[in-house]
Amino acid sequence: MSFTKFFNKKYLNIAPYDTAGEHLELERFIKLNTNESPFAPSPLAIEYAARAAANLNLYSDPDCTQLVNKLAASLEVEPENILCGNGSDEILNFIFAAFCDETQGAAFPDITYSFYKVLAEFHGVNYVTPELDAEFKINLDDYIYNRRTSFIVNPNAPTGLLLSLDDIERVLSSNPDNVVAIDEAYIDFADSSASAVKLINKYNNLIVVQTFSKSRSLAGGRLGFAAAHADLIRDLKAIKNSLAPYNINSMTQAAAIGALEDKNYFDNNINLIKEARAFTVESLKSLGFNMTNSQANFIFAGHEKISGQKLFDELRAKNILVRHFAKPDRINNFIRVTIGSMSDMKIFVNAVQEILNKND
Ligand code: PMP
Repeated sequence: MSFTKFFNKKYLNIAPYDTAGEHLELERFIKLNTNESPFAPSPLAIEYAARAAANLNLYSDPDCTQLVNKLAASLEVEPENILCGNGSDEILNFIFAAFCDETQGAAFPDITYSFYKVLAEFHGVNYVTPELDAEFKINLDDYIYNRRTSFIVNPNAPTGLLLSLDDIERVLSSNPDNVVAIDEAYIDFADSSASAVKLINKYNNLIVVQTFSKSRSLAGGRLGFAAAHADLIRDLKAIKNSLAPYNINSMTQAAAIGALEDKNYFDNNINLIKEARAFTVESLKSLGFNMTNSQANFIFAGHEKISGQKLFDELRAKNILVRHFAKPDRINNFIRVTIGSMSDMKIFVNAVQEILNKND
């Protein structure tokens, strides 16, 4: 990248997140590339957000008091255990700022959410990226007593594979002097007992990160949160109040309260995604695809008769957007496909079938 002569020297090596191609003319495409929900936000979320718009002349509540109280109640923790962020990306940024630098290093898998690398580079953090094993599983030994700040996405992206809470506890208990962040962006699509939130008062080094962008249909509202021991939340809040005190706008705070109150809508949407995921997995299996056992709202699939790039290109020609990662090499034959509505997934499966027939 090149910058002007005015650009801060300490940022000359940054590698910004590449969002190219994520925002195209939406009407033309079935959008299965960024793990959003295919469903609109809850009607209650929309109603509350619209009501909040009338007060946009006033600053938003910097502590998100009402929302934090609701979230704490729904997670069965205390309000002092929660901090809201402008998307979970902002929470991850706060965690890097608070708990990593050139001497306190970071660790995250070679194949995981690519924003970790962006943040590590931005903050000048010394980081390692241990390889996933041949089946794309995390090798736990890489995180046991590793003396780094560890970031584990659970279920991981783009593989969808879930680590057990026993494994997470082994990482936590072996690293009492280091923070362990468990990024649960996709946890609502896994079994209901999989979340590490219940461990935050047992381990004072644990931060659980969640988002309203996926299961709660609020990606455009930008809301994520950290759940952790009150002392860790205090550290993160100090960073938040130094960078972006009013980080969550009033409409988003209101929308999120509506989304939390509308539990039936949430439960129903999760069930619809799980049904569409099961349909997609079965259909692709019968077409000869290899797949990981994804517990998320996406699947990770490859076929020996067609490259990941070709499949991506041919789907795009049919106005279906999926995600293809060229690097590292061992995943370049795979595509990551967000689970949309059942009708989206039927169109997707038919398209894949046509592409395979044509290339036979
Ligand atoms: N973590 C993971 C693993 C993700 O895939 C994403 C979304 N791409 C995020 C965090 C950030 O999501 P948001 O900022 O929308 O909460």
